[in-house]
Amino acid sequence: MDCLFCKIAAGEIPSTEIYSDDKVYAFKDIDPQAPFHAIIIPRNHISGADKIDSSNSSDISAVFEAVAKIAADQNLDKGFRVVNNCGEDGGQTVGHIHFHLLARRNLAWPPG
Ligand code: AMP
Ligand code: ZN
Repeated sequence: MDCLFCKIAAGEIPSTEIYSDDKVYAFKDIDPQAPFHAIIIPRNHISGADKIDSSNSSDISAVFEAVAKIAADQNLDKGFRVVNNCGEDGGQTVGHIHFHLLARRNLAWPPG
């Protein structure tokens, strides 16, 4: 499958690793929107949040377990934001589900 984030998770395209386990890979966003900006993905290909179901939701649980580990490892004690963009209106540009973990600045709400 020609998927950018599958290739990154497989190490076929270089990235800067932040966290890795058997189900999850996290790496630095190439165009950071905050001083700390990680992309967290399940290693299994899921195209988007609209395709989460009982067959793959354990991969999504693993992503959120990784969020807590990364936040602890990186001392994100002032807080952080986790963002998923889904589909065209959601602003999704890569068709492998991913979660942005943004931190180390005050993040506006609501987003634009
Ligand atoms: P989204 O717009 O939610 O689909 O987010 C895709 C994110 O992937 C963007 O923040 C991009 O900067 C990031 N991105 C795209 N290509 C790469 C890459 N090769 N390495 C790291 N991050 C990337
Ligand atoms: Zn993929």
